[in-house]
Amino acid sequence: MAKIFCVANQKGGVGKTTTTVNLSAGLAKLDQRVLLVDLDPQGNATMGAGINKASLESSIYQVLLGEADVAGARLRSEAGRFDVLPANRELAGAEVEMVSLENRERRLKDALALVAEDYDFILVDCPPALSLLTLNGLCAAHGVIIPMQCEYYALEGLSDLVNTIKKVHANLNTDLRIIGLLRVMFDTRMTLSQQVSSQLEQHFGDKVFKTIIPRNVRLAEAPSYGIPGVVFDPSSKGAQAYIAFGAEMVERIKTM
Ligand code: ATP
Ligand code: MG
Repeated sequence: MAKIFCVANQKGGVGKTTTTVNLSAGLAKLDQRVLLVDLDPQGNATMGAGINKASLESSIYQVLLGEADVAGARLRSEAGRFDVLPANRELAGAEVEMVSLENRERRLKDALALVAEDYDFILVDCPPALSLLTLNGLCAAHGVIIPMQCEYYALEGLSDLVNTIKKVHANLNTDLRIIGLLRVMFDTRMTLSQQVSSQLEQHFGDKVFKTIIPRNVRLAEAPSYGIPGVVFDPSSKGAQAYIAFGAEMVERIKTM
């Protein structure tokens, strides 16, 4: 039975998609069966996994509206060796169209239940908003992974996300918990990064993942080739960090 994790932070550009794609590929390298769910109309995770978002026959959009099932809409990332439930701009419409549907927050949960046996991990790349799409991710998940940059404004907005997670836990999904904060785009030469990082550790204790993802240009270059960074340059510091994070997650689910 798959464990389902949302990679979420309503801040834009904090490394959600890079984390989802590279954790998926890192887990695949550790022989885990992975489904990446792209829940963002930007379709960046779809493209980063090597799938052309412009030529999708069906996508998560049809799945959420009940016009397709996950088994029919999923595609294979050959480069990453994981499956992808892809997204493109069409998904933006679902936000509006789902409002009038019954069970509108649980549509992703119900759809994923049918393929849960096929995977060890299902990773959901959330859009940068606390929207109905993100709510569908949170309702489907066992836990949330929150990527954060260690900068001055990092903690701003975190309380909104934490409060949303608490509300979802109380009202919609009692399984949901914060698995951890992941420090990403980390710059060891910056004193500020070090300071914010140790503040996070003091505040959140073991809710901060041990693995730290460094700022690494190879991770940023990889999407333009449609290859996860972990596969594009496996020896790079960024790739190594995401593989280590995969191992940390494999350990973590043993205690769940
Ligand atoms: P959005 O909120 O728009 O969905 P996001 O949170 O998914 O953004 P990403 O797209 O993963 O963020 O990353 C934002 C930018 O930072 C991208 O250009 C990405 O290549 C780059 N980036 C992410 N992580 C790293 C890293 N560890 N080192 C260098 N560049 C990175
Ligand atoms: Mg993204």
